[in-house]
Amino acid sequence: MSASFVIAPLAQAQIPVAGSSQAFPVRRIWCVGRNYLEHIRELGNDERQPPFFFAKHADMVAPDGAAVPYPPLTKDLHHEVELVVALKSGGANIDPARALDHVYGYGVGVDLTRRDLQMASRKKEQPWEIGKSFDQSAPCSALRPASEIGHPGKARIWLKVNGQVRQDGDLEQMIWNTAEIISKLSQQVSVGAGDIIMTGTPAGVAQISKGDKIECGIDGIATMKCSIA
Ligand code: MN
Repeated sequence: MSASFVIAPLAQAQIPVAGSSQAFPVRRIWCVGRNYLEHIRELGNDERQPPFFFAKHADMVAPDGAAVPYPPLTKDLHHEVELVVALKSGGANIDPARALDHVYGYGVGVDLTRRDLQMASRKKEQPWEIGKSFDQSAPCSALRPASEIGHPGKARIWLKVNGQVRQDGDLEQMIWNTAEIISKLSQQVSVGAGDIIMTGTPAGVAQISKGDKIECGIDGIATMKCSIA
């Protein structure tokens, strides 16, 4: 028997499954930095560096339709639309050829970023948490099981702010594909059931303000809306 808790056990972070009453329990949120060439160029980063990972906390997911409060400390909140990969199993040092076997499903999400704080921490060679990791910083659509939609390698990924297209790319522009990302991350940590990976953003990231309405999607997979409150 396990010990009783000194405070009430916490609610399990979760993402709904599309067309179902079931949900996917979130264990950890991993994000890929710099995985689309045009986005690397727009931020003036080194094109030859391999992508790398940073994390958000599980309870930072926000559901489709969320009114995300404008976060504190920043004057430059940015949107980054990304393919979300949800894992049902995992391991260490996963072979890229077997990596997609661990995927439960896919969705679309926004890696909300306090760009001014991210840039300041980068300059000081400090961690990125202050720029990337804050309450409701990971709005995410309902997930579609891979058993229904397969493993998308080519699909339009887009984001609109107040009806205007800001980001418009294709998953095939990812420098490292989903299987390679899972394999690479599994060299750094043992990945496992409940982990989600946000796989990097195409070009067009830009500032958002209080009152803005965001709509994004990956054709054939999911769409999602959120607003900045
Ligand atoms: Mn990102």
